[in-house]
Amino acid sequence: QLAKSFQTMVHKLDENDRIRKEFISDVSHDFQSPLLNIKGYAELLMNSDLAEQERTSYAKVIQNETERLSSLTKQLLLLTSLDQLTAPLEVKLFRLDVQLKEIIRRNRWLLEEKGMSLTMDIDEVEFRGDPAFLEKVWENLLSNALKYTENDGLIDIDLVKEKDHAVISFRDNGIGIEDKELTRVFDRFYRADDSRTQEIGGTGLGLSIVQQVVRLHGGMVEVVSNKGIGTTFVVKLPTM
Ligand code: ADP
Repeated sequence: QLAKSFQTMVHKLDENDRIRKEFISDVSHDFQSPLLNIKGYAELLMNSDLAEQERTSYAKVIQNETERLSSLTKQLLLLTSLDQLTAPLEVKLFRLDVQLKEIIRRNRWLLEEKGMSLTMDIDEVEFRGDPAFLEKVWENLLSNALKYTENDGLIDIDLVKEKDHAVISFRDNGIGIEDKELTRVFDRFYRADDSRTQEIGGTGLGLSIVQQVVRLHGGMVEVVSNKGIGTTFVVKLPTM
């Protein structure tokens, strides 16, 4: 019996070690490619006889890659701090509906730029939780709906007050996710194979952050999707 539980323990340690190594390798890889681009384009910029247009376009690459590194670092730091928590950091009573509407308002210009329509049906909900963390959840889900839906698409956001839950859903009519990839989208660094997904910028960390924050609040998040038809993420948060 003792030998068996010892064996299980060793197996768990091996597994943790494997996950840690994989994580470090993913992180390094994700930092490496923007850094190489920054280095390469900075070298090109040092060439004195460049046309103004080339100079601007090289500087733009450097700017974009720097932003990518900055958002990657921010997401990693957030995820690492979330991993160390067993409960939300700062619990406050606040209006979930007001928070959701504020996030939608902040993204109006993006919606307009892409010619997207947004519908919503939002109940009034008083909620006890960590507003700063939950804001990240809505930001990530809305940003994904926007990113993975073609121009002129449709997004629907609902907040329904149930007896002891708040149910928040984000539905889009975008590119969708293959069945076999559905269970993996919450994994760290996972991004669907779809060539269109790969062309769209991202770190594969957003949904891991969503899942961690929702878990800290004792809730759950689910995804339903049909390739080429659309995707719905549903977050269920206990209100009592
Ligand atoms: P990122 O968007 O940075 O790649 P996420 O963790 O937010 O990372 O999402 C992981 C993957 O799940 C995405 O790369 C994409 O393949 C898929 N995905 C997430 N949201 C959607 C959506 N609304 N529609 C289609 N695919 C999605």
